[in-house]
Amino acid sequence: MNATLPIDGKFPLMELPYPLQGLEPAISATTLQFHHGKHLATYIANLNKMLPGSVLEGESLETVVARAQGALLNNAGQVLNHNLYFTQFTPGGRALGDGPLAQAINRRFGSLEDFQREFAAAGASLFGSGWVWLSADQNGELVITQEANAGNPVRQALCPLLTMDVWEHAYYLDYQNRRPDHLAALWQILDWQAIAARYPQR
Ligand code: MN
Repeated sequence: MNATLPIDGKFPLMELPYPLQGLEPAISATTLQFHHGKHLATYIANLNKMLPGSVLEGESLETVVARAQGALLNNAGQVLNHNLYFTQFTPGGRALGDGPLAQAINRRFGSLEDFQREFAAAGASLFGSGWVWLSADQNGELVITQEANAGNPVRQALCPLLTMDVWEHAYYLDYQNRRPDHLAALWQILDWQAIAARYPQR
C-alpha cells in the first residue's frame, strides 16, 4: 500500500471526499461530523503530540502502526484505520466490476454475495470495539480478519483493502444497538473502484 508521510512532522486530518450528507441514509451527516471531525481529529492530535522524540518520528504512518506499541499504536492505528475507512465510500456506491480483485474474491469466497455474508458475520460477532478487515496476503490471496481496538492488518504484513468500524461511535447515533443493520447498509455506499485500487498488482 502507499506510504502516508508526515508533513512538517505532522499527520494532517484527511479531507472527506464527499459532503457530510453524501452517505445518507447509511451514515447520517451527524454521525459523519462527529466521527471525522471529533473522533478522528482527536486521534490525529494525540498522534502528533506523541511522535516528537519517539523512535518512530519521521516514519510513515504505516510503519508507525506496524512497529508501535501501547498508546502510540492505539492513536496511530486509529488514524490509519479511519483514513482507509472514510476513503472507501462514495455517494451511491460504485460497483466492483470484474478485475483482479473480483477474480480473487470469487476464487476465495465463491461469489461477492458469499464474501459479503462471511464478512458481515465477522463484523457482527466481533466482541467489543474493533474493526473487521478484508486484506490481501503477499500472494494476493484474500483473508478476513477481526482486530480489537485499533488493530490493523499491516501488523501481520497484510495489505488492508476494505474495513468496517464496529466501535459504537461509528453507528450508535443512527442505529443504537443494531450493529448488523448498520453494517448491512454500508454495502450500498462502498466505492469498490477505490477498494480495488488498493489490491496489490503482482
Ligand atoms: Mn471510528
